[in-house]
Formats: sequence, structure tokens, C-alpha cells
Amino acid sequence: MKKEYEIPVKKNQELEVEIIDLTHEGLGVAKIAHYPLFIENALPTEIVKVHVLKVGKKFGYAKVLDYIKTSKDRVEGANNQLIRTGIAPLQHLTYPAQLIFKRNQIVNVLAKTAKLPEVSVLSTIGMEQPYGYRNKAQIPVRKVNGELETGFFKKNSHELVPMTDFYIQDPKIDEAIVIVRNILRKFNVKPYDEVEHTGNIRNIIVRRGHYSHEMMIILVTRTEKIFKNEQITSEIVKALPEVFSVIHNIQPAKSNAILGKESRVLFGKDSFRDELLGHTFQISPQSFYQVNTEMAEKLYQIAIDFADLKPEDIAIDAYCGIGTIGQSFAKKVKHVYGVEIVKEAIQDAKINANLNDIENATYEVGSAENVMHDWVKDGIKPSVVFVDPPRKGLTDSFIRATAEVQPEKVIYISCNAATFARDVKLFDELGYKTEKVQPVDLFPQTYHVELVALLQRVK
Ligand code: SAH
Repeated sequence: MKKEYEIPVKKNQELEVEIIDLTHEGLGVAKIAHYPLFIENALPTEIVKVHVLKVGKKFGYAKVLDYIKTSKDRVEGANNQLIRTGIAPLQHLTYPAQLIFKRNQIVNVLAKTAKLPEVSVLSTIGMEQPYGYRNKAQIPVRKVNGELETGFFKKNSHELVPMTDFYIQDPKIDEAIVIVRNILRKFNVKPYDEVEHTGNIRNIIVRRGHYSHEMMIILVTRTEKIFKNEQITSEIVKALPEVFSVIHNIQPAKSNAILGKESRVLFGKDSFRDELLGHTFQISPQSFYQVNTEMAEKLYQIAIDFADLKPEDIAIDAYCGIGTIGQSFAKKVKHVYGVEIVKEAIQDAKINANLNDIENATYEVGSAENVMHDWVKDGIKPSVVFVDPPRKGLTDSFIRATAEVQPEKVIYISCNAATFARDVKLFDELGYKTEKVQPVDLFPQTYHVELVALLQRVK
């Protein structure tokens, strides 16, 4: 009989360990007789005394009691709350080391998942000021110690930690949250109670155009009734002159989804605008817009440079959102076809094409895989295909349909190195070589990786 594997540590045990690695979520890894322990706020090369919190079959969790030797890459005085809430889980790692960490994630998955260790991965492009960058905040509202509070949930919990300085958000957004919070308090609005499913105000969402400074405030409530909405709205508009739009969204569900289906405008427009690479974009509440405008411009510019576009090119902008990528280069090519699953985003894309005097762009609502098949059937022959999918990446069927029409180049923008590696493996099998990968840091202080890759058809 096979001897049962004995886990070498016990819950509540205290021991001294050396950190040998970082997980892709930025947790320190120590191994005790091959058994991994994951440890928050611990960096490779550090020697720490830990308390074992949880012991699972394959791995466990521990927390640091004491640092015996610290890393040269450690930032002294990092904010524990920001690490613990997951707002800035890498804040304890110096910024240059964060950039190396992100490149390594990609190098590792290309070797292990894609079996393409030879692909060239360039150094991560970082920000000069790697904080205060987020143009969007989604802040939960709850009652804490009898008072309406705004803040952030503790990691893996729904316990609200009241907070006013979110560090990675546009400071103007942080200010707006406090102002709106105080107005809600003044009018005695009832915060949502998740356990009882009572109370009303669930979230405050603030979006602010990086260049335009147009601000959109979304108040998400459980019920249709919104308290003294006229007074509240007029106080918000008075206190925040940048406010361009106030929206009331109703989310009656007991789910984690932040936005509900129903929205109405309380003030101004039902969208706001911003600029990217000199073009104007309208953005509706339901539409995706990159949260780091400064770095999104760098990312898109690299994508465009990688594509080396020519006037006769026919380009597909798959997962196009409000049309940002395609419209940034539309004037350089013959035609752009965009596809996106969110109806409101396609409405924005069409309006944006008008705002930017673009006449050679066509947009379809639908899933990229279905619409790609339709385009292939209709005889559309793209020479370049841009893809920018969500974290789950592309589907087999989308990749095969793309390879079938034989574009010269595929420009893959990814926010998830693991699914990216899985997808380029299939592209490789279908005759598309990954020439180079450029990581761009859109999410400083977090473990999120963003990259753009050039895939070239092998003749
Ligand atoms: N390229 C845009 C949006 C990228 S985010 C930008 O840079 O702003 C990914 C987009 O894919 C989102 O807008 C999301 O709504 C959309 N999406 C998600 N699943 C999709 C699918 N199956 N088909 C088409 N679009 C999808």
C-alpha cells in the first residue's frame, strides 16, 4: 500500500522559513519538505518567523510574526491595510522589482504553458509616478459602528475597512468619494446590509476623464426609491464642479455584481468623455474603459507600432469596447471592423467614430467568436487582427476562424498572462509565430499584468 503523504506542518505551528518565490498574486512562497506555504507581505530571499494559519492538502497559509532578514527590494513603511485589502498588494515591493516580477510572470508561462521559451519578452514599461493613476473607483458603502462608511473589503471577505486615501486612485476621485459620503450621511441614507439584504445605498462609483476632467458619479442602490434624490444630487453638483453626470443605478440582486440593469440620469448626461491619443471618446456607465489612461495610451501606441499599418490594410478590432484601439489608427488604414458584446459600448463606438470624423469603421454587437465566423463567411479578409479579450482569453473557435482567413499579423493585447500563453500556443500550431511581447504596467502596486504581443504568419 502507498504510504500516505504526511503534511509536514501543523496549524498554529510557529516556524522560521526562507521565502523562495512569489506567487502570481504576490504572496511569498516558502517550502517545508516540498510543501508550499503562502505568506502575505513576504519577499524572496527574506527569512521570516511565521505562524501557520491554514493547512490544506497541497498547500497552506501562514502569516509573518517577525522579519529576521529582509529583502533589498522591500519598501520600508508600506501600508499594511493597502496590502491586506488587495488594493495595493505589491506595495511592499520596490517599483523596479515589480516591473521585473511582471515580466517574469510572462516568461514563465510562455515556457511552461505555451512551450515557447524562445519568445522575446521585453522589459516592462513602467510609470514615472506609479500611484494615483486609476480613473475609476467602485467603492462599497456599509454601516460600520453605526455610521455610513466608504472603504474597501478585507481580502476574501465582505468586511468593510473604512478608508479615504486609496493611494492608487486619482486623488480627485478620493476627494469626491468623501464628499458624496458626507452628503449621504447628512440626508441619513441607509447603507446596504448584505446579510439581511436591507438598507439601500450599495456602492458609489466615480469615473473621471484623465484629460477632460469630466466626472461621472453613479449611486447604486438596492431599491428603486432613492431617498431625497433631488437634494442629494443638487448638493453633489454644488460641491463637485467637475461633475458632468449623476446616474442612479438599481441593483436589487443578492449578487456580487456591482451594476444592475436599470439606470436613470439624475443630472447631466448619461455618459462622460475623455481623450486617448488625441481622439475623443464617449463612455457610458456600462462600457469598459482602461482605468489607467496614461499607460493605456502607451499600450495602444505599441500595438499600433507592432502592426506597422499600411493604407491598404483591413483591420479587425475584436473586443473593441467603445472603439478606442481601432479609432486610434482608423485614418491610417482602409477599413476597421469592430466587435464587442456590450450593446452600450457599441453605441458609444458608433458615436465616437462620428466625434473623430472616422467614416471607415463598422461595428457589430455580438460575441467575437460568432461575429468573426460571420465575417469569414461574408468574405471579409483582414490583414491585421487586433484582439483585446477579458481575462478568460480567446476561444479555440475564434483562434481557428482567425487563422483560417490568414491575416498577416495578429496583435494580442492581454490582461492575463496564463490565458495568453494558452492562446499563443494554439496560434503557433496554426502557423502564427509570437515575435515579441511588450509588458506595459497598467496596474502599478498590484499583481495585474498587461501586455501586447506581435504574432506574425509564417509563410
Ligand atoms: N479594447 C477595448 C476593450 C477591452 S476590454 C479597450 O481597450 O478599451 C474587453 C472587452 O471585451 C470588454 O469591453 C467586454 O465587454 C468585451 N467582451 C467580453 N466578452 C466578449 C465576447 N465574447 N465577445 C466580444 N466582446 C467581449
